Order: sequence, then C-alpha cells, then structure tokens
Amino acid sequence: MKKHNFYAGPSILSQYTIKNTADAVLDFAGTGLSLLEISHRSKEFSAVMDEARALVKELLDVPTGYDVVYLGGGASLQFCMVPFNLLKKKAAYLETGTWAGNAIKEAKLFGEVDVVASSKEANFTYIPKGYTVPKDVDYFHITTNNTIFGTEIRQDPDVAVPLVADMSSDIFSRPIDVSKYDIIYAGAQKNIAPAGVTLIIVREGALGQVERAIPTMLDYRTHIKKGSMFNTPPCLPVFAALQTLKYYKELGGVKVLEKMDKEKAALLYDEIDRNKLFKGTAVAEDRSIMNVCFVMNEEYKELEEEFIKFATEQGMVGIKGHRSVGGFRASLYNALPKSSVEALISTMQEFERKH
Ligand SMILES: *Cc1c(COP(=O)(O)O)cnc(C)c1O
Repeated sequence: MKKHNFYAGPSILSQYTIKNTADAVLDFAGTGLSLLEISHRSKEFSAVMDEARALVKELLDVPTGYDVVYLGGGASLQFCMVPFNLLKKKAAYLETGTWAGNAIKEAKLFGEVDVVASSKEANFTYIPKGYTVPKDVDYFHITTNNTIFGTEIRQDPDVAVPLVADMSSDIFSRPIDVSKYDIIYAGAQKNIAPAGVTLIIVREGALGQVERAIPTMLDYRTHIKKGSMFNTPPCLPVFAALQTLKYYKELGGVKVLEKMDKEKAALLYDEIDRNKLFKGTAVAEDRSIMNVCFVMNEEYKELEEEFIKFATEQGMVGIKGHRSVGGFRASLYNALPKSSVEALISTMQEFERKH
C-alpha cells in the first residue's frame, strides 16, 4: 500500500534525493567506489561540498560577508555554539516552544539571558507579540517554526539588534532576508537531508568578538576557513543535502516552494476547521505551514486512538502528536506531495462519516 509520510523528523525526502543518494552509495560520481567509502578529500567529494555550500547561497540569496557551513552535532549543538561564539554579556531569547527552551538553557551557561516573551503559560499555542527587545543585547534568538507545537514566525522580525534563528523545520519554505541575521541554523533532517548534518549561515563580521577561548571544533571560524572540511564531514548527509538543493532549484526556488507549502497547509487546516471531529491546537494567525497540530473535539476525545489506527490502515505514517501536545501532528515538509495531504483529508472525512 502507498504510504503517506507525515513524520516530524527525520522526515520525508524527495524521490530525487533518495534515488540519487542510493545510486551514489553504489557508484559515486563514476568513481567505481561507494559514497560510503571515498575520501572526503577526493576531488569528487570536494566538489559536492563546494556545490552544496554555493547552492544554499543561491537559493536563499545570501549576501556577501556570509558563509555557509555544514557541521555535525545537530541543531542542538548550535544551542551552545551560538552563545559560545556570540554572547559577550547579554542575549535576548523568545520562548516559543521546547526547542527554544533548550536554546535558552544553553545560553545561560555563557551570560545573561533576557527572555523577552514566552507563551509557555498557554502550552505554546501562539507566538508572543508586542514584546520589546533591549538595544544592549548581543543578539536576539528566535525559533521560526515550533515543530512540536505547530506555530510559526513567517516574517523576519524588525528589531534593532542582530537576529539568530533556529530554522530547523521551516528553512527553504519561504524567502528570507538573510542580511537581518548574524546566524541561521537548521538541522537537516526536516527539509534538507537525512539526520547527521546541520546547515549554518553565519555573518563573518559577527565572529571574533567574544573574549572567552573557544575550543577549535566549536569555533565557526575553524570551519569557515576550511570550507567545512576541517575534519571529516558527514559525507552522505551532505551529498543528500546537495540533491535536495538541486531539486529545489529545479522546482523554481523558495518562492515556488512557499506557494506549494501554503497551498497544502490551507487544504488541511480547512478540513480541520470544517470537520466536526477535529480542532486545531494553535491560534489561527500563528499556524505553522510545516507542522499541523490538531486534536479531537472534547466530545469525541475517546476516538483519538481509533483514528490513529484507522489512518494507519489507510497508509498514513507518523501522525501521532508529540506527547506534550497529544492528538495528531501532520508534518507537511517540502517533499510531501499534495496527494498525501488529500489522502489524509479523505481519511478524516471517512472517519467523520463513520461517527
Ligand atoms: C528537530 C529540531 C531541533 C533538534 O534538532 P537536532 O538535530 O535533533 O539537534 C531543534 N530545533 C528545532 C526547531 C527542531 O525542529
């Protein structure tokens, strides 16, 4: 049976990415060797790394003065690398979910942290607004998409200080004004590649201003200087990332991806709002177009498990909500075809008819 992959991460990748990566595992770039067994210093792999960095610049219109880096350690390592490299005295953070909370916890190890606003009291169902970011902070950190709670910031905020953003689960779903940011980072396993690599865009001028000693591997400058090849990079995830970036370019770039993503999300939210069994958990104006979180209406609560079972029988995979929200979560990343959203909607309608 056809599977519809709604996993939140690792998550669906394009067939283009999977097929080309599988081919390269068997024979990489006509070398007669597997991608798994070739030196990262070979000219064939160096070309992959160079192109993977260049395509990010092209797709996101990255201005000069910025570098693109691929590192291991996940987005979670960036929670500590960012303050290690940028936090002199004080940083501001917006607390919009579990990941933002984890980032705040790490930053506190390096200096003062001003949590300018939080939606924790409402279980992160909305994005706080009307907060003030102090002018004397080294940077303001936001999480653009809250993967677990299904809320999203879809505009680059206007603040007087440099921004840092965790864009792990919505990068490449819209054009970004990179010039507003000192650092953008994204774990690959949502919109880019299999787990194992993190994409970082960093303004070189922002570095070298802290007085503390930074371990070599945790200093962005180490990796910028060596083109992300200071040590052995995660070769397979970087290769897969390059395939996804090529695929995005072929489709027409981030504007086209945004249009497709918005269309998919609107279809599903419309059904959630229409269907008598379900309701969304996030406030309407802050709904994420990547992770759609919903639950069963009070009077149908006891049907939640039955719906998961029913949907699983129809080929839906990964729609169980995160334990901190409950209910359901359908992740609609770039690679998810509209037909999968339509299949989920049919499943919801059929379940409604049965009850
Ligand atoms: C998944 C996710 C993370 C954690 O990523 P790891 O690569 O597992 O460290 C951090 N932030 C956001 C927004 C995420 O979606």
